[in-house]
Formats: sequence, structure tokens, C-alpha cells
Amino acid sequence: MSGKRAVLFAVFGGVVIACSVMTAVAARQKEFKSGIVWPEPKVITPGKTDHEPPSDAIVLFDGKDLSKWNNGEKWEIKDGYAIVKGGDITTKDSFGDYQLHVEFATPEKVSGNGQGRGNSGVFLANRYEVQILDSFENKTYFDGQCAAVYKQSPPMVNACRKPGEWQTFDIIFTAPRFDENVKEAKVLTPGYVTVIHNGVVVHNHFELQGGTFYDRAPAYQKHPVKQPIRLQNHGNPVKFRNIWLREIKQIEGKKPE
Ligand code: MG
Repeated sequence: MSGKRAVLFAVFGGVVIACSVMTAVAARQKEFKSGIVWPEPKVITPGKTDHEPPSDAIVLFDGKDLSKWNNGEKWEIKDGYAIVKGGDITTKDSFGDYQLHVEFATPEKVSGNGQGRGNSGVFLANRYEVQILDSFENKTYFDGQCAAVYKQSPPMVNACRKPGEWQTFDIIFTAPRFDENVKEAKVLTPGYVTVIHNGVVVHNHFELQGGTFYDRAPAYQKHPVKQPIRLQNHGNPVKFRNIWLREIKQIEGKKPE
């Protein structure tokens, strides 16, 4: 055999061995397939920054007007933000499960203390309050400080920025479900809330115990899944901007028969 032919045989032999090893490995590693037929996830365009709404968001306030809110005309709009004035505002539309982005700033000029400093709030389903407060070096009861689920749980950490600085809440809310067949509030599944404050997780899928009240224990009252969102007037000129929401639903596949 010539030198050239010997090299060719050696290379060919090597390839054959490599192929048979790969086939043996593949035979042992069978790919898992669930058999579930998934719909293709919808393509959306995320915002250019974390503040901007993604393409499938419902913009509730873009800095120009509060026309999507009942009582919105009572609040002052200035330089792309809204200032709390003259009562709570409530969305005209109702929403069930959602991701909600809210930016707020407590007054730069600090006045008052405890619950009287920069107080407002985001009421999910019009009744579950995620507290807004100036909790930067301002002590109050812990389950009433900024980002608390009011009177149900303090935030895991205090991630507040200084008064006057813009802050973000990214809230993931799952509405409670009630038994339709009975009059009273028979909870089938409770509400859940996850809150990210200035990029920091402060509640992780927290189970709501019911409505958040000042003067009584939390308790559920039966309500439809879809409810408006309310922003609180607590008498302090808190500012808001960039409010948007995405209705969410877990993707569902078809299981094999
Ligand atoms: Mg409040």
C-alpha cells in the first residue's frame, strides 16, 4: 500500500469509529418531548428602556392627560407628570390579572412625618393597597411603610429613593377568584401580588389576605375578577408619570389525549 492510500484508510477508519460512537450516544440520549402542542408566543416589542411600555401595553398615563381615569381632571398635570389633588382617581376600564408599571415621586420638600409624609397608594382591584410613602429616613409602622401591602406585610427590604427622586413599582397582580354560586365571599383562589420597587423584589407572590383597611383586619369581599385600579389622594402632593399595564394570561398548550 502506498503512503497516500494508508493515510486515506486511516482517516476513513477514524470517521467510521467517530460516527458509530456518536450513534451509540444518541441512542442512549433520547430527546424528551412532552407531546403538548404549544401556540407560538406572540411577538411583542419591549420598550427601549425599562420605563417605556412594551408594544402590547395599555398606556394609562403618558404625561399628557388623565382621560383614562375617573376624576382625572381634578389632578394637576405639569411637565409630563400628574400631581395628586382633589380626591382619588380610578381607571375607567377594569382589569383582571396584570403587570402594572407606575412611576412616582414623593415631595422633594419634606413636610410631615410617619404616615403624613408623601402618602399615596396603588389600589389593585380598587381595594388592595400597595403603599406609597416617603420612607426615606421616615419611620412608621413597618406594614404601612412604602411598598408595604398595607397592614398585611412590610416589604422585604426598604428600597426607597430620596424625596423628589423618581421611583418605580412593577407590580404583578393575580386577582382572587370567588365562588359564583354563593352570595358570600367564598374564595376559590386568593389574590397574589409581586412587587418590584426600584428594581428590587420586595414581595414575591404574596398571598393577599383580603382588602387592606386602616381600621380593621384584612377580609375578602366578593368582587368580579376585573376591577379598576385606584391611585390614592392622602393629602400629599405625590407625583406620578409613566403608568402602563399589560393584561397577562399563562400560555396554554393542548395536551395529548
Ligand atoms: Mg396610602
